[in-house]
Order: sequence, then structure tokens, then C-alpha cells
Amino acid sequence: TQALLARATAAADLGAFLHLDSEAALASAKAADARLVAGDSSALLGVALAHKDIFVTADMPTTAGSKILADYRSPFDATVVARLKTAGAVSLGKLNCDEFAMGSANENSAYKPVANPWDRQRVPGGSSGGSAAAVAARLLPASTGTDTGGSIRQPASFCGITGIKPTYGVCSRFGMIAFASSLDQAGPMARSAEDCALLLSAMSGFDERDATSVQQPPQDFHAQMLAAREGATAAQPLKGLRIGLPREFFPEALSEDVHRAVRASLAELEKLGATLVDVSLPRTELAIPVYYIIAPAEASSNLSRFDGVKFGHRAAQYQDLLDMYKKTRAEGFGAEVKRRIMIGTYVLSHGYYDAYYLQAQKLRRMIADDFQQAFQHCDVIAGPVAPTVAWKAGEGADDPVKAYLADIFTLPASLAGLPGMSVPAGFGEGGLPVGLQLIGNYFKEGQLLHAAHALQ
Ligand code: GLN
Repeated sequence: TQALLARATAAADLGAFLHLDSEAALASAKAADARLVAGDSSALLGVALAHKDIFVTADMPTTAGSKILADYRSPFDATVVARLKTAGAVSLGKLNCDEFAMGSANENSAYKPVANPWDRQRVPGGSSGGSAAAVAARLLPASTGTDTGGSIRQPASFCGITGIKPTYGVCSRFGMIAFASSLDQAGPMARSAEDCALLLSAMSGFDERDATSVQQPPQDFHAQMLAAREGATAAQPLKGLRIGLPREFFPEALSEDVHRAVRASLAELEKLGATLVDVSLPRTELAIPVYYIIAPAEASSNLSRFDGVKFGHRAAQYQDLLDMYKKTRAEGFGAEVKRRIMIGTYVLSHGYYDAYYLQAQKLRRMIADDFQQAFQHCDVIAGPVAPTVAWKAGEGADDPVKAYLADIFTLPASLAGLPGMSVPAGFGEGGLPVGLQLIGNYFKEGQLLHAAHALQ
């Protein structure tokens, strides 16, 4: 813990941490030592990690990357945080992210940007950019992230690490500051599928404080990852696994370097015994407008709680209550957050609800149905995570729609609530990492981890 604290301090210019807490970290490292001496052999005992600053923590500040929560302290821990603590993991601090997890480059953090450790001129991806960069720079063996429309998978891809977003409802959202509640899901980010499996086993599980938490018994994802497939051999551990390649995930616009790296890892999967089959997800393109209606709609409602009354920032001077709300929110929220509140309020407003929100909900169901059609022909779906490698800092900053379009391959699984992961697939332009995306059917995390582990 001491060595990693020193390393993180020395790497401050990376921007990965919003809060580094040596006091809290050393105290929990001592507690882990004591458990170790007492014979505890839990896999995560003493393992250093840090949390995306969207999870509330009782012993450290929580900002969600926003000025409106500067100086905010939660009276309790998020369930995911509490569970990892119970498992003996040592939290070093809180990791930088886009404000309220809205973004794809970590440039919407109200505090500072995060650099991509592979090329400091490039973005690490987002919104879990700090979580990805910290692991990629070897400041931490693992971190937590959240994924609403790709925020675990895309930064994992841009930074060359492994990350998994489980099925919606597998990890509790209690204490995860809400962006779009019907999409938000927590997950681990680490160097390997194996580390992700260990973390996910500890993080997940039913929680009565989250109404959408899935009632399933505790899962041992590590055992599921290791379980041999029927008919598999040592040379062909993936024998019989059918991997579906949606033709819509390999469009003309996909950059050539990404295509090449993805194809190379698909060829590896074939060597390991998997068979590749063509499938179709015909509504892939519609995932962008559907997501960018539903997510802002839910965000506009969720963010109404930041009004200067109960917690967080309050404007210093105002005339009356309404003026206090206005000034507080005008000062506290950044441009992207305001944009989404406006879009969300618009699509939910009387007279537009049917035209936008209701339409989007119907299409969301059709997108989910398309996956079920595809899963008739395959066990796992594979494709790129993002159309390009990490872009240069500042490049997407003044064109939000361009950034939205780059979410095309991660949004469909989010809208369907399916588990998805990013696994390093090699390198593209400029020696930058490329991720392979694996998408499974509901509750098939074990199958994704198994395939990723075989590849690693
Ligand atoms: N890039 C997407 C957005 O800006 C996804 C973010 C996320 O998954 N939190 O909404």
C-alpha cells in the first residue's frame, strides 16, 4: 500500500485520482494485515484498489466529478464499496471521471482531465477514465467503474485493460450516484479477466436497498471462469463455443487498425476452438438516438435532487428560493450536464413525450429483441468496443454529437441490459490499445470471462 501510494503521488500529472487518501488506505492495510495473520485467506485481502468517484464513501469525499458536490461527504458507503471493504480490499482513494459519468473522454470532469498512459496527448476514454488510466499506468491492480452506455468498456479499450459490465441488476446501485437509473451498472476494471472475476464475485449480489437488484444467490465468477466446457480440450478450451459477429459491428466506417486488431483476436479465438458465425443486430444505429433520449431523460429527473437545499453546493447570494435553485445549478453544473438536463426535460415534456421518450422506449425493446434473435445462433457476440483508438485530447471537446456517435458499439448491450466486456485485442494506430468487445446473454458473465481468460 505504501509503495502504491508513493507511485500514485509521483504520477499526479496523469490526473487519475481526485482524492488520494494515505491515512485511510494505511489504516485498512493494517486491518488487512491483522486478518492475514489470523489466517484469513480471502482473495482480495490487502489488495489495493480505488473507486470511481461516483460511488459514495463515508471515509472520503465524493464529487461525481462535479463542482456541485465539491466538499460533499456521504454518511454511508455504496454497497459495492462496502462489499469490497468487507472482502479486505484496501481503497487508496477516489478516481477521476466525467461529471456525473456523462462523457467518453474524461474531459467533462469539473476538476481536471485524465491523460492516457500510453500517450499523454490522448484521452483515456470515459466516463471511467481515471479508473482505466490508474490500472493501465500500474498505479493500482484494479479499480471500480460504472457503465451506463459504455463507460467501463470504452476506457478499458482505450487504455488496454480488461473491464466487465455485468447484467443490469447484478451489482447493487445503492450509493452509486444516479445518472440513468435503468442503464447504470457497476463493474470491475483490472489487468485480466481473472482479476475481474475475483472482484465481480465480491462486488455483486442481491441488495434489498436497490429495487432493481437481481435476487440470485452469490456467484463465484472465478469458478465459472475456470469451469471447463463440455468437450473442451487443453488445446481447444473454447471448443463448441459459437461466437456471433454482427455485420453491423463491422461497418465501412470502422477504422482499419481497429478492424485488423479485432479480426486478429477473433482468429485467436477460432484457434482456441470457437466457431465464428454471422449474425445481425439490425437496429444497431438506432441505439444512438434511443440512448441519447432515454439517458438524458432519466438524468434530468435524477439530477433534480441537486438543488442547493439538501446537500452540495449552494449559491452564496440569491433573492428567493427559485433564484437560489437557479444560481446554484447554473454555478454547480458543467456544460455537458446542463445540455443533458435540457434535452431530457424537453423529451419528457407534455406534447413531446409520445414523440420522443415513448418511441425510444419501444425501440429499446426491439433492440433487446434483436439480441435474443442473434443468441439463437450463437453463445457470445463479439466485435469492436469503439470505432477508433483513443483520440487526441481536445479533439471531441466542442462537438458533443461526434462523441455520441463513437458510442455506437457499446450502447446496444446497455439498452438491452446485457453483460459486456472489453478485452485487450492488440494495438492500432500509434501503438495504441484496441479492445475486443464480448457480449453475453443475461447472467452469462461466467461465459464471457471464460472466453476472455482463454484469450489471455
Ligand atoms: N459516453 C456515454 C455518455 O456520455 C456513456 C457514459 C457512461 O456509460 N456513463 O453517456
